[in-house]
Amino acid sequence: PATLGVLGGGQLGRMFVHAAQRLGYFTAVLEPDAQSPAGLVSHHHIQTDYNDPAGLAQLARLCQAITTEFENVPAQALQMLARTRPVAPGAAGVGIAQNRIEEKAHFTACANLSGVTCAPYAVIETPAQLQAVLDDRADLLPGILKTARLGYDGKGQVRVRTAAELAAAWAEMGSVACVLEKLLPLTAECSVLVARGWDGQVVSFAAQRNVHVDGILAVTHAYEGNMPPALATRARAAAVSLAQHLDYVGVLCVEFFVVGEGEHADLIINEMAPRPHNSGHYTLDACNVSQFDLQVHTLAGLPLPEPRQHSPAIMLNLLGEVWLDASGQPREPDWASVLRLPGTHLHLYGKAQARAGRKMGHLTITGPDVASVQTVARQVAGLLGLPF
Ligand code: ATP
Ligand code: MG
Ligand code: MG
Repeated sequence: PATLGVLGGGQLGRMFVHAAQRLGYFTAVLEPDAQSPAGLVSHHHIQTDYNDPAGLAQLARLCQAITTEFENVPAQALQMLARTRPVAPGAAGVGIAQNRIEEKAHFTACANLSGVTCAPYAVIETPAQLQAVLDDRADLLPGILKTARLGYDGKGQVRVRTAAELAAAWAEMGSVACVLEKLLPLTAECSVLVARGWDGQVVSFAAQRNVHVDGILAVTHAYEGNMPPALATRARAAAVSLAQHLDYVGVLCVEFFVVGEGEHADLIINEMAPRPHNSGHYTLDACNVSQFDLQVHTLAGLPLPEPRQHSPAIMLNLLGEVWLDASGQPREPDWASVLRLPGTHLHLYGKAQARAGRKMGHLTITGPDVASVQTVARQVAGLLGLPF
């Protein structure tokens, strides 16, 4: 059988591997960690660094086509693989998503096309730029200082209220390239998943509403009525137009903020992820085709089925806290009680070590109607001590 490759061995890679195997593909995972979620379930595990030329050459030899499961994969690695094999998404799209400065410039350049803008922001890469912001951009305070690169799950971000706090925070971050973003009064957050093939065929899922706690996704609400329909429609169209404008191939997730309420509600674009996304995990249990199925289809050049959700769904993230008792001692969560409830789908990523904030698994709740899904989600959250 043909083999599909993935750079990175986390849970997104694991779910990609599962989807690929269902279609009869073999898989190869390049990942330095010996016990990674994806490496453990793949036919081939090339256990080496993401930019090791020998490992990359081996991956290219084994695979018909290659994708990535985390956005910080070195762009050179993708370029090197792309010399001999189809790689999706390509280095250009991944490169933009890796750097908030390029990403925001891209969103701004696409604003006419997508119909959405990002939050007011300023680039801070040099002491002179910091000084200019301190002097002239009081409108950006209170704000969030975000490192341009390598931030995720709210890491690499500091909230700053005053000019003095901003200067101190930038120094504290080692004066690396950053953006300062105005802190917006969010009324909601949502995201949209798009899949686009080599031939330009594009499909998307309806916008899902996301609840973050401490900068980490906690809950995804995926059902009709989860947000104002006009905003959901706009978000979906904007995400599709961004994928098209990038000539993107693969699965792309675009995150949005909602500000204001009722008739005054508006959309702001936050960021994008060049891969399947935590907020799309509900598609595994609630849709005819999952975000990982579409990742496989795009990579392999197969037609993309039109996504259809067959059940309302709520996804609850399972972070390491669920495996720790009040005094921080390890404990096994009471899965039997959870799985006794109707419509619960448990996904565990095979990670041995539970740490606070570490994504260990997720639970999707499906059911005949929104009210019963919400009722079960509340019960599950109560059993496991999750926010809901
Ligand atoms: P991810 O894990 O999604 O990649 P990240 O570390 O890249 O996260 P962001 O998406 O930039 O971080 O921000 C994390 C969360 O912090 C957002 O989902 C939102 O809840 C909050 N946040 C970020 N920027 C702003 C803002 N300008 N105004 C208000 N809240 C914000
Ligand atoms: Mg991010
Ligand atoms: Mg985010």
